[in-house]
Amino acid sequence: MEECIFCKIVAGELPTELIYEDDVVAAFADISPMAPVHALIIPKKHLAGVDELSEEDAGVVGHMIMAAQRLARQLGVSASGYRLVINTGADATQTVPHLHVHLLGGRPLEPKLG
Ligand code: 5GP
Ligand code: ZN
Repeated sequence: MEECIFCKIVAGELPTELIYEDDVVAAFADISPMAPVHALIIPKKHLAGVDELSEEDAGVVGHMIMAAQRLARQLGVSASGYRLVINTGADATQTVPHLHVHLLGGRPLEPKLG
């Protein structure tokens, strides 16, 4: 996806420090953090969002969650707790059409979702 900013980050075309990377996923700090810890975990392969996933993508999604667990430990929020968020589509305010998990933590988060 040539115009996808997250694909550009994976390709090294947008200078962004990766805080975690393996064969399947990459992670980096959100450019507009909403909490002391705010990272994004993305698949290296372009997948637009949850609604576009097919059964064959299930392994990638599982891998993203396990990477989030690892990253939470790395960033020191495992004990205090953290929230994983995937926005999907317009009503959920998804702004980047490349699947991503938000990892938020480092302070008590608002109890309400939505
Ligand atoms: P969404 O609203 O789609 O769930 O989340 C997209 C997130 O990507 C937003 O929190 C936004 O701050 C972040 N973001 C957008 N563009 C960039 C970028 O170029 N670099 C980084 N690191 N984060 C970005
Ligand atoms: Zn992409």
